[in-house]
Amino acid sequence: MERLQKVIAHAGVASRRKAEELILEGKVTVNGEVIKTLGTKVSTNDRVEVNGVPMEREEPVYFLFYKPREVITSVSDEKNRKVVIDYFETVRQRVYPIGRLDYHTSGLLLLTNDGTFANMLMHPKYEIEKTYVAKVEGIIKKGDLLKLEKGVHLEDGQTAPATARVISRDTERKTSIVELSIHEGKNRQVRRMFEALGFNVIKLKRERYGFLDLRGVMPGDFRELTPHEVKKLR
Ligand code: URA
Repeated sequence: MERLQKVIAHAGVASRRKAEELILEGKVTVNGEVIKTLGTKVSTNDRVEVNGVPMEREEPVYFLFYKPREVITSVSDEKNRKVVIDYFETVRQRVYPIGRLDYHTSGLLLLTNDGTFANMLMHPKYEIEKTYVAKVEGIIKKGDLLKLEKGVHLEDGQTAPATARVISRDTERKTSIVELSIHEGKNRQVRRMFEALGFNVIKLKRERYGFLDLRGVMPGDFRELTPHEVKKLR
């Protein structure tokens, strides 16, 4: 049996002090239960999660997945809807998604069993650029692009500087296709950014995650990241 903060620190997820903060903030669960008491003893059989990410020391694996629409970014769903893990039944390791895409959003999603790696990529200071292509109702004008780029006001704060460009406008059907690159990962951020400007998103796809894209991967398929790609993301 070892003290919880020591186990977290040893797994490389955080420094000892940071681990203590995470515990006090209620970010740590043991066997599904939030533990806020420093010094709680855990054994190797206990399932420890930090920010919802299991801490495990299996051989690390890293996958790039093309999430289809109408799939939940989760390892299970109480309503029995399709979840991303359903596509990974042939993978022996227990992988989980890094971040999330909405049920109706398709595109690039990384999965791993490496908790340190997942926590690092999800940390806001890491600021990996994510590029989305959105089909929206309405005609997007130059001024709208400038607002998206400068930052729009959402209820959980102003969005950080982004880049946006129009791929095409259909003046007959009154729709636009826009590419938007953001560095944050607020909940439903892209949809809410367009909504804040009065545009409804009809379709959304994540095309790129940093230097990674979906080339050669079909919806519902995945490939392993190369060691070089993993190294480059760290
Ligand atoms: N922004 C959204 O609105 N949805 C996603 O799935 C990802 C980013």
